[in-house]
Amino acid sequence: MTDTLFSPVRASSVYVPDEQLHLIPMLRNFLIPSLGNLPDVMHFTASGLAPRTSPPSGYFSPSTHPTWSLRDLVLYAMEPTYVPPDQKAFSDDTQISALMGTIFHVIFNYAFREMGILVAPPEKSCPLCHKPRGYKAGVDTCNEHVVIDEKLKRRGHVDGVVKLPDLGTIPIDVKTCAHQAIKWINNHDAQPFIEAKAGSLKAKYYGQAQEYLAMRDEDMLMFVYIGLGYPWEMREIIIKRDQPYIDALQAKYKLAREMASRREIPPA
Ligand SMILES: [Zn+2]
Repeated sequence: MTDTLFSPVRASSVYVPDEQLHLIPMLRNFLIPSLGNLPDVMHFTASGLAPRTSPPSGYFSPSTHPTWSLRDLVLYAMEPTYVPPDQKAFSDDTQISALMGTIFHVIFNYAFREMGILVAPPEKSCPLCHKPRGYKAGVDTCNEHVVIDEKLKRRGHVDGVVKLPDLGTIPIDVKTCAHQAIKWINNHDAQPFIEAKAGSLKAKYYGQAQEYLAMRDEDMLMFVYIGLGYPWEMREIIIKRDQPYIDALQAKYKLAREMASRREIPPA
């Protein structure tokens, strides 16, 4: 199957080879405003950050549930409004970070599309958030690829799927972090994610990546990081499929669904 791309590859984004980096050199070039790639007006939606008005879906989400304990998963499967007691509410500062992260997701998605590397999702409208696909000024659209597994009841959005000359088609997960924190992240060093301590953000991100790989049935995903603040450093890290992790998580999800249907709660 050939991937449908949103736009032809632009001359200003012609692939810049680098021994190590697959995406960042061309992404950096694209984002420099004086090079004239960006539109005058961009549209972003902040509603995803507002307090929830509809009940949660009850699905396991790649960004939330892979690192939860069996007990927490069972309680969530029984009652989707359940939140584990150790889960901290977002501080005001974290909420501002999330807002900036949302804006960078929009900018990166635009850049991928205009660079001619963004793979178009197959559906006319998003099966999850029901927004139309495509791009139109002032219209709230969703061009993220969706993963759905009705068997284990898990689903989510993938930030983007891009087609790169040397790597082929690969899903992308855009991550933002404090600019001081990006110093501790190295290009193509996946080890800290593989070895991340339970409960850490890196462990969460690793689980999220494995969920996308499991549901998309693929072998590689790329994290693209940007540090929020001068000098806007970026990193790319390829996360490989970890089959033992995927098997263990799927077994945990299956057991959680079964226990929830029997109303059987594991002890704390
Ligand atoms: Zn959507």
